[in-house]
Amino acid sequence: MYEALFQPMRIGSVELKNRISMAPMGLSGLVTSEGGFTPRGVEYFVERARNDVGLLITGCAKVEQLVEPFVMPSQPDPMFNQAHFIQTAIEMNERIHAYGSRIFLQMTFGFGRVVHPKTATSQPVSPSPVRNFWDDSITCRELTTEEVDYLIEQFARAALVARESGFDGIEVHAVHEGYLLDQFTMELFNQRTDKYGGSFENRMRAPVDLLKRTKEVAGADFPVMVRFGLKSYMKAFHQGILPGEEAVDIGRDVPEGIEIARVLEDAGYDAFNADGGVYDSWYWAHPPMYMHEGCYLHLTEVLKKVVKVPVIAAGKLGDPAVAERAIVEGRADGVSLGRPLLSDPEWARKVRTGRVEKIRPCIGCHEACLKRIARCKPLSCAVNPAAGREREYALERAQVPVSVHIVGGGIAGMEAARVCALRGHEVSLYEGSDALGGHVIEGSRPDFKIDDRRLLDWYRRELDVLGVGVTLNRTMNAEDIMMLAPQALFVATGSKPVFPPIPGLNLDDPRVATTRQALMGEKPLGDRVAIIGGGLVGCELALWLAQKGHRPSIVERLDELMMLGDTAYPNKMMLLELLVFHKVATFTGASVVGVDETGLKLGGGKEIPVDSIVLATGYRAENSLYRELAPRLPAVHLIGDALNPENIKHAIWSAYEVARMV
Ligand code: SF4
Repeated sequence: MYEALFQPMRIGSVELKNRISMAPMGLSGLVTSEGGFTPRGVEYFVERARNDVGLLITGCAKVEQLVEPFVMPSQPDPMFNQAHFIQTAIEMNERIHAYGSRIFLQMTFGFGRVVHPKTATSQPVSPSPVRNFWDDSITCRELTTEEVDYLIEQFARAALVARESGFDGIEVHAVHEGYLLDQFTMELFNQRTDKYGGSFENRMRAPVDLLKRTKEVAGADFPVMVRFGLKSYMKAFHQGILPGEEAVDIGRDVPEGIEIARVLEDAGYDAFNADGGVYDSWYWAHPPMYMHEGCYLHLTEVLKKVVKVPVIAAGKLGDPAVAERAIVEGRADGVSLGRPLLSDPEWARKVRTGRVEKIRPCIGCHEACLKRIARCKPLSCAVNPAAGREREYALERAQVPVSVHIVGGGIAGMEAARVCALRGHEVSLYEGSDALGGHVIEGSRPDFKIDDRRLLDWYRRELDVLGVGVTLNRTMNAEDIMMLAPQALFVATGSKPVFPPIPGLNLDDPRVATTRQALMGEKPLGDRVAIIGGGLVGCELALWLAQKGHRPSIVERLDELMMLGDTAYPNKMMLLELLVFHKVATFTGASVVGVDETGLKLGGGKEIPVDSIVLATGYRAENSLYRELAPRLPAVHLIGDALNPENIKHAIWSAYEVARMV
């Protein structure tokens, strides 16, 4: 059924056993302070290799610390301590080769304007003076011609070290996402007057000379792939162009991308690993749940018509059917999966063996991958806490199986049940409503939450297969539980919405709904819907209602939407831009002081006429059962929202940590 994905392919001199590659992702937490790979890093890649990934592409490695020094450990660096790098990489690569997989080292020419000031240990550099992306007060220093020559030479030598370390090729980071090499190619960032700036040919000199010198030093037969963005989707600094939005791209548009691709192929690049977007449109480069599946296929389709070397597509291809179709329809030669291989390292194995329903989906949240990488915290995954710590955080069979009872069938309760059952315990789960899923049931209603719905389906299937005893429509009280005499009890009783005391606001008012009632359609909403609360829940609800044809507005007492909650940068950026795109009215720094028959009354005398009001004003932990039972039972664990109402990552991680130790 997925035959195309498992056809071999070739990149330069290297044959790959299938069309599935692991996309490069930051290696925070997997790198030694000497620039090598930690044992965790080795296990991380080997785990994907032994589960049938044909090509692994590492996160980017530095090649020098003189021109653009970074704090260590942030990236691997073949040139920082060559012997150390070779020693740690060679054993990893030998193990990967034992599974018939190949591995490319992604190496960066530099970050330039997009380096985070906390990562750089000196003034950021760039082709021409330009403001740092993260800190407007910092102007990047223009690189000298000699420094660019040096970067190219250093890159070529690092490629030779990579070859000696057992890597099968390299990927050049990057003529994409607005990194330093990309900045050289883009007129917007390159106003140089030396051989690396000015004309189109000069702007292309850095990636072209880099390739030529790399082939000279590392060998003409050593494959070199380029990470390539065909289009920037940049409307202005710090402002992207949304899917479906018509706007001039001030970065790189497709016609110039095509010209660049031709030059790169003529220079001798062996393959393109293609996507779109830059930091200023980060939701393209790191697509959240609001982005459509296969989001770069329209770009790779164009690229494939232009170049003869293989084109690998990235971008929301976690649904095997979408990935297979991309190849069958000739829109890509291979697929590159990043986050789907974090959420489920066995993705390729499960597809090959016809068990796609067993794949644990990525939900596009960036909570434990990009968000942590960007802050130098260890890479992991919200739905797979063992990602990035595969060996030490793996589940082991319990030495003494016990009877485990779990109260609450939300995500935390289901994760605790899954983990305990996998470890051999006898598990019973009680849920007060008629369905497993908790708040994620309503939260996954919007169309753009399809992966949350997939996650719920996955949990329900897993619990079924594992033989967890699930009892629905059963609200357990303390005495019910004491009668069971549980050897281990998990309390996952979730959270309850908080409603502000606003004069005239009444939940029995047919115009007033909770977020659950609104999302589940339990109370019909009119045309003009005022959402009180501009956090993530309120903003997503507003987007969904706007997409459905309502005219929502958001009232938020803080000065900005989504100020609290620490939503991942690309997710927040895209959601806020979508709200503007869909003309959602927002009132920030505004308190609701009353509700009457015409609508909301805000402080300062402003009035908003509405047909419906939805309360998205937060949640509080529901842990009364735990407080009753904690003094009476020896092993009682509070997890998920009942411990602290946060998000799916917190629910899963708190459950996993405790359940793996029972
Ligand atoms: Fe996907 Fe979220 Fe896991 Fe990142 S943290 S891989 S976005 S589920």
